[in-house]
Amino acid sequence: MTQAPELHATRCAICGTTGNATERWPATLTPEAFSVATFSARRLPDRVHYRMVTCDACGLVRSDPVMDSERLDGLYEQSTFDYGDELPSLERTYGEAIGLIEERLGDLPKSGIADVGCGNGFVLDQALARGWSEVWGVEPSSDAIGHASPEVGPRIKQAMMTPGLFEPGSLSGITLFQVLDHLPDPLEPLAACREALRPGGVVLAWNHNVRAVSARLLGDRSPIVDVEHTYLYSPDTMRKLFEKAGFVDVKVRPVRNRYSVSYLTHLVPIPRTAKEALLPPLRRSRIGRRELRVPLGNLCLTAINPG
Ligand SMILES: [Zn+2]
Repeated sequence: MTQAPELHATRCAICGTTGNATERWPATLTPEAFSVATFSARRLPDRVHYRMVTCDACGLVRSDPVMDSERLDGLYEQSTFDYGDELPSLERTYGEAIGLIEERLGDLPKSGIADVGCGNGFVLDQALARGWSEVWGVEPSSDAIGHASPEVGPRIKQAMMTPGLFEPGSLSGITLFQVLDHLPDPLEPLAACREALRPGGVVLAWNHNVRAVSARLLGDRSPIVDVEHTYLYSPDTMRKLFEKAGFVDVKVRPVRNRYSVSYLTHLVPIPRTAKEALLPPLRRSRIGRRELRVPLGNLCLTAINPG
């Protein structure tokens, strides 16, 4: 049993205002919600979330109120990573996404790329395989870094993305895969990204879409409505956030992830007991391992650092 922390009102990341918002879903918190297990990657969705509100001015969806960010940082430092059988699908999905950065590099070299929230560093391995040099990871969890390959382990900085972490103007690309939703104050890490990028450098963010059909149909039964998500973005609010951070030529598009049939079963809103009975045999079966490309409500943004 973990003691429930005190909760604090949050600000809209785009407008900088507290309040000025309409409740979207009331909180479903339990004391167990504030445990390391909850803040670890890819746990079974349990429909535990903060109260979520929509900003009346800009439409950004945020959790309000939430625990303080020091306690949150502590949970992410101790969190564990278990990608399970999904690692090959994630490697292909995110490896191909690096191509979207390469398309926008212009004259910049494929040297200097950082993956923020890199987990065990599998995206860095993909970047190396695509011919990048000077690859870096940023990750708070020591467990995740401990599972990195020997090539990339020494290239992972155990930290949050903050100004000064990289030599200013030293990177051509930065990726944030399923990270933006988790950040309590996204403008600070985005300022750190701009500082680290060369003029013309490309940032790529890949995360959930609160306006996706699946999210709209399921409401707070959607696995994206989760205590780990301090914000949920739409194409419009994601663009506004990056423009506020000073990025230019912002492009946002819906994207398809590759998923195994067993992972899709893991996500659907059916009773947990049924899921726990269904998943082990499915994971062992050929059909459970079959891979599908589905538009499960993810967005991909790329934008340029004007320098
Ligand atoms: Zn707002």
